[in-house]
This record gives sequence, C-alpha cells and structure tokens, in this order.
Amino acid sequence: MKVEVRSLTKIYGEKDRNVVAIEDVNFKVKEEEFVCILGPSGCGKTTLLRIIAGLERPTSGEVLLDGSPVCEPRKDISVVFQEFALFPWRTVLGNITFGLERMGVPREERERIASQYIEMIGLRGFENAYPHELSGGMKQRVAIARALAVDPDVLLMDEPFGSLDAQTRNLFQAELLEIWENTRKTIIFVTHSVDEALFLADRILVMSARPGRIKKEMRVSLERPRDRTSMEFNRMRAEVLSVLQEETRKALALEGLTAGKPR
Ligand code: ADP
Ligand code: MG
Repeated sequence: MKVEVRSLTKIYGEKDRNVVAIEDVNFKVKEEEFVCILGPSGCGKTTLLRIIAGLERPTSGEVLLDGSPVCEPRKDISVVFQEFALFPWRTVLGNITFGLERMGVPREERERIASQYIEMIGLRGFENAYPHELSGGMKQRVAIARALAVDPDVLLMDEPFGSLDAQTRNLFQAELLEIWENTRKTIIFVTHSVDEALFLADRILVMSARPGRIKKEMRVSLERPRDRTSMEFNRMRAEVLSVLQEETRKALALEGLTAGKPR
C-alpha cells in the first residue's frame, strides 16, 4: 500500500473551545491510484491533507507512506494548495526550481529539469515572469510544475482548480489526467465538485460534515476520457450528490446558516 491513513483524529483548540475537525478517518491508497476526497466546506479536508503531507500533527492516529510513519514534510510527498502559494519574489523558473534547490541539485541540472516542466505546462517564454504578471490559470500551472519538479511519489492536491472558470477547469482536469498517465504518481485530490471527482478519480471518498469521517466510498470504473453526459456518469453523479447534499445540509446547520424552522 502506498499511503495508509489510520484512525486519524484532529482536535483544534483548548479544553473548552474544541473543534473536532476530523474523527477516526481510515483509508488506503494504492500505488499509482487517483483518489478524490469530496466533502462539504469545513469538514476537515484541508486538515486531512496537511496531516498526510506531514505539515500538521494529528491528535491521534497515523499516516504511513510505504509502511513507515509520516511525521514531517518530506520530498517524496508534494502538495498543491488551493491558493497556489507561489513565492511572489521568485520568477516562474525560480518557483519551479525551489524544491530542487533545497535538495541540493546543482544549478544546471535544476534548470534542465525545470525547463522540461515549463515545456509541459506550456509556459515557454514566461521563465522570467513573476507570479503577479500571470493569470490564475498560469499560476496554477506553475504550482503544479513546482510540485512535480521534485519527482514526488505522492501528489496531494487541495481544491487546486477551485478558483478557475468552468472551461479552464475542464481543460486542467484533462491535462492533469495526462500528467498522471505519463508520470504514474499516486494522487490524492480534494475537491467539493462531484463532477470533478467523477471525471478524475479511480475511487471517490465522500466525507461527512464535521467532524469529518469517511461517509461513503465509490469506485469509478468508467473508461477514460470520461463522457460527462453519459448515462452511467449521470447515475453516479446522482448517487454521490445525494450523500454530499445530505452532509452539506448538516454542515450548514452546524454553521447556523440553514433557513430551517427553529427547533
Ligand atoms: P475544509 O478544508 O474541508 O473546508 P478545514 O480542514 O479547513 O476544512 O477545517 C475543518 C475545521 O477545522 C473547520 O471548522 C475549521 O474552522 C477548523 N480549523 C482548521 N484549521 C484550524 C486551525 N489551525 N485552528 C483551529 N481550527 C481550525
Ligand atoms: Mg479546505
């Protein structure tokens, strides 16, 4: 098993003001598998991903990578964050070579590797541009290239296409599948879009409202490239949506935002 998430619980805060973000989350991800995690906002998806990345310590439970515990950030796990998190003071090239620099890869080698990824993401000619000179879509491409440049085994993605318009988003999904097919990474991809999950994943894990648990697991055995208008796609969409909508209602109730009758 590539990644094993064992009984993860994360409680934020002090004694009397606790937030149980996730509770007893368990799942396994095979090598080269593409898993999507779906869940309502606030259910602990980012928390879960940060723990898998070793950026956050769980309150209890553990994450194993190739059978050994993940306790800190490591070079075989890369993360693409929702807000891109590019270094504004570094150029496109500088952002992509960042991880390689930290690994002590010599300059020429760094630039050779970065150059391949710049080609792959279609940003040839933008090597020396700074993040503020790029569109949202370009920034997201750079963030993906930066994550891939260190050649991680596992790629964690936290709603990476959330801020893109619908057309760009569809295009990026197709591009990501191409990258995945070429590089055979293990991918754990967080999203709140049912369509995105159905288009991308080998398997979908639906999380419950906070505290986040795995509420439903669904294998998506449709052939790729998937047709979002096919009957089977629609049938699966309805099945996942019914679970997600129920959990989203609970999540909204938790936030006190539902227009329901007072109890
Ligand atoms: P999601 O990514 O699914 O929207 P998060 O993992 O960001 O959910 O958050 C889950 C819950 O944990 C939320 O209630 C959030 O307010 C809380 N939370 C997240 N990070 C922290 C933190 N650093 N300190 C305290 N509470 C947090
Ligand atoms: Mg989040």
